[in-house]
Amino acid sequence: MLTTKSDPGAYETLAKSLEGRQISKTEAMELLFCQDYQAVLSTARSIREKTKSGPITYSRKIFINVINLCRDSCSYCTYKKEPMDDLVSMMRPEEVLEIAKAGKILKCTEALFVTGERPEQKYPQARSWLHSLGHSTTIEYIREMSENILQKTGLLPHTNAGSLTKKEMSLLRDTNVSLGVMLESSSERLTQSGMPHEMAPSKNPKVRIKTLENAGELRIPTTTGLLIGIGEEPQDIIDSLFLIKDINQRYGHIQEVIIQNFAPKPGTRMSSNTPPDNSFFLVIVSVARIVLGEMNIQVPPNLNPYSFGKYLEAGINDWGGISPLTIDHVNPEFSWPSISSLKDVTQARGYSLRARLPVYPEYLSDDKFISEGLRPYIDPICDDHGLVPEDYLV
Ligand code: SF4
Repeated sequence: MLTTKSDPGAYETLAKSLEGRQISKTEAMELLFCQDYQAVLSTARSIREKTKSGPITYSRKIFINVINLCRDSCSYCTYKKEPMDDLVSMMRPEEVLEIAKAGKILKCTEALFVTGERPEQKYPQARSWLHSLGHSTTIEYIREMSENILQKTGLLPHTNAGSLTKKEMSLLRDTNVSLGVMLESSSERLTQSGMPHEMAPSKNPKVRIKTLENAGELRIPTTTGLLIGIGEEPQDIIDSLFLIKDINQRYGHIQEVIIQNFAPKPGTRMSSNTPPDNSFFLVIVSVARIVLGEMNIQVPPNLNPYSFGKYLEAGINDWGGISPLTIDHVNPEFSWPSISSLKDVTQARGYSLRARLPVYPEYLSDDKFISEGLRPYIDPICDDHGLVPEDYLV
């Protein structure tokens, strides 16, 4: 029995969501501030049990830091480097392939390609590097590397290159089983003067929404998500969740929603900003489950290194990409948990852990979402449930 005696409206909303009925934005806002937050968590868990009764999943990946120059500048980012920085990355094909082969030995199944936003538009160094590789855009190069890795290692590419045009996504569709683009927030206020996306035109919500819609029209399984704690208001969080839900209802291609907490980093303009309160973040994750229902929800465990297991209590069903080989180049100060500790934490809360592919199982049986040429690479590392066979990982 739910006990929200001090908040009868919230009780009715939780009961409604348990019946599978859609709640309104106003009701979702009330849940964010419900005094009995344990009731909100409990409801989120119940919805997860009903809609995602299988194992908790993760994707065993390698992180390919293709190029970390970026034409944009977000106030919280340390991934973006300048050409003379010691940690600048401009990977050549042989370096990409070397990591992929090492990942194959460690039974990784995902090759995650990450770049800054259109570096060639700002940096002559990026243009020369691409020119030396026979390309004029980063996306063309990633397409070639995706094909190379597929053919030589069988790892399945998933690219996160920020906002892409429909043409660019079409170029990647035949070699990438899925794409990633974070919405971060639907709030245009974050693009105003003094806000984190002031100097990041690609983070304008209109641009991100267009990218997500283009991916939907192209039937590309797509990962998106929210970055919490960068100056958005609680209403923005709710609006963003409803926006993602709406886009998915129109196209059915949002394979996963990441709820990521902002972590302040030294040397950035937001280094002294306060990260989201742990308890409030937990409630946000729960409300995400209540709003998004049967959609896949992930919280990255490495950004919460001491307490990530608690997100299972808030209704998540996935831990995202975990690498036994490469670091998280976007958040290098936060190492990924080992896969064995991920398993221990998951099992300690009564769930099993399974490796999935970088495309979620529900898309595998639908030819509209999977390019024909990808099937020969997917089938050998996929069981009847659409997960990586356990004996493959032994
Ligand atoms: S667009 Fe991405 S890589 Fe570029 S500055 Fe923003 S967060 Fe960093």
